[in-house]
Amino acid sequence: MYALHLLLALAAPAQRPDSLAAVVREYVTVDTTLLALTHVLLVDGTGAAPKPDQSIVIRAGRIVAVGPAASVQIPAGAHTMDMSGSTVIPGLIGMHDHLFYTAAGGRAVQMSYTGPRLYLGSGVTTIRTTGSRSAYAEINLKDAIDHGFTPGPRIHITAPYITGAAGGGSMAVVNSPEAARRFVAYWGAEGATWIKAYTDIRRADLGAAIQEAHKRGMKVTGHLCSVSFQEAVALGIDNLEHGMLTASDFDSSKKQDVCPVTFMAQVSQSDPRGSVAQATIQSLVQHHVSMTSTLAVYEPFVANRPTKDERVLQAMDPGVRDSYLKMRQQIDTNANGGWISGRAFQSAMAFERAFVEAGGNMAAGVDPTGIGGALAGFGDQRNYELFIEAGFTPAQAIRIMTANGARILGVLQTLGTVEPGKMADLVVLRGDLTADPSVIRAPTIVFKDGVGYDSAKLLASVQGRVGVN
Ligand SMILES: [Zn+2]
Repeated sequence: MYALHLLLALAAPAQRPDSLAAVVREYVTVDTTLLALTHVLLVDGTGAAPKPDQSIVIRAGRIVAVGPAASVQIPAGAHTMDMSGSTVIPGLIGMHDHLFYTAAGGRAVQMSYTGPRLYLGSGVTTIRTTGSRSAYAEINLKDAIDHGFTPGPRIHITAPYITGAAGGGSMAVVNSPEAARRFVAYWGAEGATWIKAYTDIRRADLGAAIQEAHKRGMKVTGHLCSVSFQEAVALGIDNLEHGMLTASDFDSSKKQDVCPVTFMAQVSQSDPRGSVAQATIQSLVQHHVSMTSTLAVYEPFVANRPTKDERVLQAMDPGVRDSYLKMRQQIDTNANGGWISGRAFQSAMAFERAFVEAGGNMAAGVDPTGIGGALAGFGDQRNYELFIEAGFTPAQAIRIMTANGARILGVLQTLGTVEPGKMADLVVLRGDLTADPSVIRAPTIVFKDGVGYDSAKLLASVQGRVGVN
């Protein structure tokens, strides 16, 4: 019975709600059953080379035709929008996209208001929460979005974090395999589809959590340290967060089940293409364990990077902005080149290149935490620019940010690429993304379920409120 129910739940296509509340409709600019977007530059999420002068036909929220503008038949009665000069990409799939925010100065808030608007307005149409602090706020927000009561992305719920005795705070400390199983069973019943393990969990407890999760059709990811990447792969984990800078495989002094204090210093000096890196990457690739890149949350810890984006500063609450700029000053004048060195940051990029070159499935997310310099949505966009800096092509970077995430979430059949049969989640960007990476910052219309949302209006609604609610 349980298995059948699960099967139906997974097979059911995401549906747009029957009606959208006024608070959602105020952001809607396009809502028509039959729509054609013509003459776009398409980066379709499959990794294929960008295609100029394409047309996309959308019927009842689904993509029904994609191809050269000269050959795609526009059905009679279609609302046709000439998008010459724009790029279209799939809706971004944010795989480390929390609905809480932590900032310089010690602020930490749930983003039930700003989060969904920032994500959707920035072109992120699907998020995985990847660890929650107020799980019910997130479960209820997902429900409100799914029912058309509030604007926002599709949400895949992750339970509260689980960690070990050395951790704590807002996280569940699991001290036995039995406690780990009990935790997973409870949150699975409440609607979580993912478990997030954190830096102090022990192998036995992580292993039990993974077993229980898999039994229930759930998946497990981790921001690990006490357990190395290779140990977690052996335990059957599905996904690993953050890449090289959280891989304690690089610390040769590490004791089992303990996060070493020397870890960051060790990994910062390590070779991202050396023997440890290769063994770690091979372990993930062979066992089909995916990795989530979160370059945008690391960058603000590095001195003298372009981390004073005016859009970010304007969206922040003034007190949060002051604290951020003070901390910026401390980091930018730090004698060691910041709290994360430029070298470590470059190594993290090189490790990600090596992982993808080895055939690894890498996705991306913003992780709007740390000192609060990477905001929901804006930081997802920043990841694109950082992937280009890291040496990925535009087609590769977009695939990482769309189809690869959809594969990890198990929704690639319905989302993640711009192809016939998929849900019409796509982003219209003003300009040529392949010529200028900053075009990722310029969504004009963000389509979710074929409904077009006004990006500028969504983003205007959060000005000065990030760090408040
Ligand atoms: Zn996180």
